[in-house]
Amino acid sequence: MSAPRAVLLDALGTLVGLDGPVELLAAELARRGAVVEEAAVGAALRAEMRFYRAQHDRAVDAGALEALRDDCAEVLRDALPPCAASLGVPTLREALLAALRFTPYPEVPGVLRALRTAGHPLVVVSNWDVSLHDVLADTGLGPLLDGVLTSAQERVAKPDPELFARALALAGREASRALHAGDSVEHDIAGAHAAGITAVLVDRDATARAPHGAAVVRDLEGLLALAAG
Ligand SMILES: [Mg+2]
Repeated sequence: MSAPRAVLLDALGTLVGLDGPVELLAAELARRGAVVEEAAVGAALRAEMRFYRAQHDRAVDAGALEALRDDCAEVLRDALPPCAASLGVPTLREALLAALRFTPYPEVPGVLRALRTAGHPLVVVSNWDVSLHDVLADTGLGPLLDGVLTSAQERVAKPDPELFARALALAGREASRALHAGDSVEHDIAGAHAAGITAVLVDRDATARAPHGAAVVRDLEGLLALAAG
């Protein structure tokens, strides 16, 4: 009998989601004396997120993460109306971090426990900065995983098959004995296929177009049968 398949997992949109960040940031700003319409907060937060996505691989360690967070707060300041911008970068940074709350999707802890019990090595493969380890620890998912690879620390990002190859090495499986689940066609499905790994699209909103050769699940419950097969 073959060893149980390794299950590689994306993080954001697959294991954890962001809790209404626009509403939370508007509330955090209001608590600090700056009442800003949600539309303006949303526009500023989108600017910050665009900057973060382009820059997150700089945050390879705690010191670099601090610098990145300061820069993100500056981008946010520059995109906010004057009443909020005048709070200053340290206060805006505090408000921003308080507003970025990650929560596991409801089925995730149970599915991870079931997969582990069945002997599947579980490794996260994520385009994220070094703080992903803290997010997984804070959400209680860390102890359910066998390994976590971030693009920032590995200095290689999805869809590069090299990041998947390192995850396979960590899991102790060949590509043919692994699957990767994620919500991005561009990063997860393309990257897994390039690495020769079975790809599973996590389509929580039923909005994505299933690419050729990828299985589709609505949530991680669907992985249990695929991993066992
Ligand atoms: Mg994702």
